[in-house]
Amino acid sequence: MADPDSTSMPRRAFIQQGAATVAAAAALSPSATEAQDAKSKPPELPRRVLGKTGVQVTILNGGTARAPDALDRLLRFEYSRGVRFFDTAATYGTEEAFKKWFAAMPEVRPQIFLATKDGVARPSDMLKRVDARLEALGTDYIDLLYFHALSGKAVDFGLTGNEMDWPKSREMKETIAALKKTGKVRHVGFATHDQRRAEQLEIAAEGGLMDVIMVAMNPWLEKDSRLNRAIDACHKKNIGLVAMKVLAGHLALSGFMRDLKQMRLDSPVLKQRELNPYQAILQALWSDERIASVCVAMPNTDQVTQNTDAAQRFHPMSPAEIRGLRTALLKAGPMMCAACDGSCSRAAGTNARLGDLTRFLTYYEHHGAHRWAREAYAVLTEEQRNWQGADLASARAACPTGLDFAQLLPKVDRLLG
Ligand code: SF4
Repeated sequence: MADPDSTSMPRRAFIQQGAATVAAAAALSPSATEAQDAKSKPPELPRRVLGKTGVQVTILNGGTARAPDALDRLLRFEYSRGVRFFDTAATYGTEEAFKKWFAAMPEVRPQIFLATKDGVARPSDMLKRVDARLEALGTDYIDLLYFHALSGKAVDFGLTGNEMDWPKSREMKETIAALKKTGKVRHVGFATHDQRRAEQLEIAAEGGLMDVIMVAMNPWLEKDSRLNRAIDACHKKNIGLVAMKVLAGHLALSGFMRDLKQMRLDSPVLKQRELNPYQAILQALWSDERIASVCVAMPNTDQVTQNTDAAQRFHPMSPAEIRGLRTALLKAGPMMCAACDGSCSRAAGTNARLGDLTRFLTYYEHHGAHRWAREAYAVLTEEQRNWQGADLASARAACPTGLDFAQLLPKVDRLLG
């Protein structure tokens, strides 16, 4: 069973030990990091304009969904490595770390682009949540406020009701105007990893209300897929796009080291660019110019070092390089659904939510977020959990990431049930 930090182990195999040691030492000492900041200009990460916000954000967005105890120190370390776009949420319990950081280093606040999220029963309720978010964060303004996990179905965050129409509703339009009028919120968006997110993005493009959308995706969306076309539509409407859940779920721990040699054969770009597979996934995603930034939870200094290194050394990958990388990753056995509309369940002839079940397993095994995974699983109905009798071979054939459901689902029952 993986502990919360276990994902760092295989990644360490790719990094030069010296850099990792220096990084860890710096993070353990806030004063050392501050001293480094004072002496030398922090390295700049590449930036892109975040849609209609007009703000140039770093292409790496520091996520805080998987947070260690000393998160405020890790935030300082990310900052020292050039990250200027940070992400938190009411449900993560990580806003306090920003408050602590801003109290110790008030000069940081205007230097960063800070996003937080909250879940509400209806759009106008967000107006009542702003002050609580400001208080939790220790700031008097939020750069970007997301409606959290916009959903047509109540799964992850206990939200209820059909929210599909929110991105084009009159109530949302009035709420966004009112939020901005307070001067406490500069930009508004929503975050989604819902199976119907392609439709949500289509509706958002039609509505034209949202400044930013954070969406679960991967770097190899089929050109004609509904999600890819919806991303195009949003991009054309100048809605800023942030990708998420890009790394999680790839490379099941047990298969990682075993498959490394083969992965390098299947994906020469790993060797040519001296990238580990996680860095390569980021560079593949950044090769999509529609995406302004990629939000990645980085629970330790090694991952911060690797991901900022990938950003600093970024140059676009060719379609052939991205295809090769995809082949290599699929062979290594990904476990999380991140890219689709539930084709697996339809192909398997079941009402079980095969994609959600594997995603919750990822939270458990890969993130080490045991309680979160079990809570998310517990929200599903018996019918949504019960995959017995499903045609798992057909589900695998239908899944664009080729998830091995026959291997993964018994684990779901064992670990989350
Ligand atoms: S087919 Fe694969 S990617 Fe699509 S919902 Fe199912 S598990 Fe997720």
